[in-house]
Amino acid sequence: MKQFLNFINGEFVATGRTFEKRAPANNQVIGQVHEAGQAEVDAAVAAGRAALKGEWGRMSVVRRAELLHAVADEINRRFDEFLAAELADTGKPHSLASHIDIPRGAANFKVFADIVKNVPTESFQMTTPDGGTAISYAARSPLGVIGVICPWNLPLLLMTWKVGPALACGNTVIVKPSEETPATATLLGEVMNAVGIPKGVYQVLHGFGPGSAGEFITRHPGINGITFTGETRTGEAIMAAAAKGVRPVSFELGGKNAGIVFADADFDKAVAGITRSAFENCGQVCLGTERVYVQRPIFEKFVQALKDKAESLKIGPSELPGVGLGPLISAEHKAKVLGYYAQAVEQGATVVTGGGVPDMPGEYAQGHFVQPTIWTGLPETASVIREEIFGPCCHIAPFDTEEEAIALANATDYGLATTVWTQNLGTAHRVANAIEVGLCWVNSWFLRDLRTAFGGAKASGIGREGGVHSLEFYTETKNIMIRL
Ligand code: NAD
Repeated sequence: MKQFLNFINGEFVATGRTFEKRAPANNQVIGQVHEAGQAEVDAAVAAGRAALKGEWGRMSVVRRAELLHAVADEINRRFDEFLAAELADTGKPHSLASHIDIPRGAANFKVFADIVKNVPTESFQMTTPDGGTAISYAARSPLGVIGVICPWNLPLLLMTWKVGPALACGNTVIVKPSEETPATATLLGEVMNAVGIPKGVYQVLHGFGPGSAGEFITRHPGINGITFTGETRTGEAIMAAAAKGVRPVSFELGGKNAGIVFADADFDKAVAGITRSAFENCGQVCLGTERVYVQRPIFEKFVQALKDKAESLKIGPSELPGVGLGPLISAEHKAKVLGYYAQAVEQGATVVTGGGVPDMPGEYAQGHFVQPTIWTGLPETASVIREEIFGPCCHIAPFDTEEEAIALANATDYGLATTVWTQNLGTAHRVANAIEVGLCWVNSWFLRDLRTAFGGAKASGIGREGGVHSLEFYTETKNIMIRL
């Protein structure tokens, strides 16, 4: 049986306290994960602090960047192993992990290594009150030991999205992968040793949140900053932990994202775009669309077209050719999503398609598959319209005017992402500017340039990462003023 060990100070460490990792597609146990406790957290923090004072702390930015490029190259060399690990943990379609998760996991190291090498800091010259001259310039230094707390939906991609810039800036990291997806973070430890990243720079501790590795990391006084992706409620708990010592946080949290389709949109492209944003990764994407608003003249036609698309998605395990919809991550998450499917019906929804569990053959009957589901007819107050479900489902409602669409999209506590479909440039700009989100896509979805800001407004996050924005979080900027 596969053992997922902690990675502390360059070595793989068993703790003997294990929990099971099950495959989402058939619910079979595929590994034992070794849970870290306070002692392992203390050891990792000590190793991370020692690395800051050792070879890593003294390393030139050029050499650091070279090493991070080597990390990316080694991930690509072991692409098939990373792919197999991610597929086993998540059950997502092969095409998704091979085109997005693993390549982006490698790219995160290269992009941020290059940004850190090439982005200058500010410098000003001024006249002093007595007529002299002074110059000031900014110098960046690493924040220290960073706690990186990760979710399970895009495990390698979202973890490296934080580890890449943190290491590029000269920090050390302690990663706590989700208890659901221990594999790729562990495998990355082998890569770090293989390319010569010094001990204590990248460490992995397994476990849960409260009363386990997650809480112990975030409460540890030797952790200088916490970057977290996950549920808004978890963010509240982590923020409370970080308050002790006034340590900075960067949060990428939940969403209840709207898709807005205007009658002048390229219809087929809009249908294809909303199909992806509602159902990709079985709806387990923070940026996914669970509320769709369609302008009235094309409402009926759009509902029918999205129904056809949903019903054409092939449901099955990763290796099934042409599979479009994998399983949900766990039995617990399946129960949560099916709970919302039931609530939708109780609250009076018209079920356009889905709403239950598909018939799956053989061992896959034990997997966490659910049907892609579309509802219409619910009031905006319904729980499935207000709360993040994180499943392959959406509600579609009609709207008449641009103002109405903006008001509907903004009527939520969350503010992560929106996707807008129109061919009118004026409409696109006006709506994009009026929507209260961190990310607005027009005639696209999940198209990312890693040099740009990423993050959420309102209850969807604190701060921005991406490009130079990552440097803001992962470094302390010092101003040095020199009187000439
Ligand atoms: P989660 O909040 O349940 O768990 C995330 C991580 O936090 C896990 O590693 C977990 O063990 C840990 N954790 C839980 N409680 C903790 C505590 N008290 N202290 C420290 N660590 C703790 O989230 P999830 O279910 O893994 O992921 C799904 C959620 O993530 C959704 O809400 C989704 O929208 C969000 N998400 C957001 C983004 C984004 O970029 N905004 C990206 C992906 C996922």
